[in-house]
Amino acid sequence: MSQSLKTVKGMRDLLPEVARKFRHIETVATDLSQLYGFEEIQTPILEPTALFLRTLGDTSDIVTKEMYRFTDHGGDDLVLRPEGTAGVARAFINEGLAQHLPLKLFYHGPMFRRERPQRGRYRQFFQFGVEILGVEKPQADIEVIACGYRILKSLGVLGTVTLHLNTIGDSASRNAFKEKLVAYLSDKKDQLSKESVERLEKNPLRILDSKDAGDKAVLTGAPKLKDSLTEEAQLFFNNVVEGLGILEIPYVIDERLVRGLDYYGHTVFEFTTTALGAQSAILAGGRYDGLISDLGGPKTSGVGWAFGVDRIVELLPELPVAKKPIAIIPMGPEAETMALKLAEDLRSNGLSIELGFSGNLAKRMKRADKLGASHAVILGSDEIAKQVAMVKFLKLGTQEEVPIRDLVARLSHSSTKEPS
Ligand code: ATP
Ligand code: MG
Repeated sequence: MSQSLKTVKGMRDLLPEVARKFRHIETVATDLSQLYGFEEIQTPILEPTALFLRTLGDTSDIVTKEMYRFTDHGGDDLVLRPEGTAGVARAFINEGLAQHLPLKLFYHGPMFRRERPQRGRYRQFFQFGVEILGVEKPQADIEVIACGYRILKSLGVLGTVTLHLNTIGDSASRNAFKEKLVAYLSDKKDQLSKESVERLEKNPLRILDSKDAGDKAVLTGAPKLKDSLTEEAQLFFNNVVEGLGILEIPYVIDERLVRGLDYYGHTVFEFTTTALGAQSAILAGGRYDGLISDLGGPKTSGVGWAFGVDRIVELLPELPVAKKPIAIIPMGPEAETMALKLAEDLRSNGLSIELGFSGNLAKRMKRADKLGASHAVILGSDEIAKQVAMVKFLKLGTQEEVPIRDLVARLSHSSTKEPS
């Protein structure tokens, strides 16, 4: 195949077996989010570039190197959305949703980041996320974490997963801490990575989550954020921790956890797995009280998370097989016409029907077998003459002539009580 017709690097086709898992994850997450009172919001995949420049921060990985950014034919500067929260915040402002607070929203869909593709890291990937807007209290932090925990639990993926939790305090806490951290790191610049030296001026907090061994060594002696927390920020975090305790949600406090985006404050958290190598983060989020006002909207609290569907797919246990279809095998034009109607009637009764279109009987039986069909219904001229169909019970290896007028009732009955 010519180069240009391959999928774009880092983007993939989801074939039925994998797509089925994606669908399952989205269904479970949607159902459970609704149980928590979240409602769906859908925002466009293309957004104005300024939205992300203004929210994610100049030093974030996304803004510095990962955005799919282009100018369209009309000269508009656009980005394929790299994440969902900024779009939700934009919609909140544009649509005047401030009068409906508090708001609990969930979203899902494709996100785009130009990073190095590997298992669990793609350039088009899928996120499912929730946001609570307009609740200042730590109860909202607890509720979003509980909802995420419950989704992961229902999906059966908690086995290798740990919840990491931290607070990065309010802005007074962070400013006090930044000053101490910069003072400490400034005379150790020669031991820091190039990236961290750059961040020292622009975003010193991000140095804390550096993966560089040299940085890590320097950081062992660094001042701790928790020693700079204001009383208020400490109290807020204590409440979150207490709530998780009451709900018996296990967590570890991770003082290095700061999250990569500018808009977070107070609570930050990440569910990580040990099963996916460097792609360890499966669900991540936090509180972002400054985001909406940064975008020019009314001062509005927010807290939420997003999980990576592609990564959770890798952790998912085998799903039960899809409902087995009934294969209808009409032989000859008269039978084909009859089969059309029969298939519709059976589908109206909620039965999944595969209609064979061509090939000899043996070939069509083979296909029915391959589909894992529970029954094959053979309609040939002999059968039609007698107004019957030959029903083969594929699991039992038996067969039975059933009057055509009884077929719907008989199949509806026997497929709900399929012998094992
Ligand atoms: P990482 O550190 O792995 O790059 P991140 O901090 O950039 O993750 P977030 O922006 O917090 O990720 O996005 C939330 C979740 O979306 C992540 O925890 C992860 O599960 C998923 N995710 C992020 N980037 C990708 C990607 N390129 N491919 C697949 N999933 C991704
Ligand atoms: Mg990333």
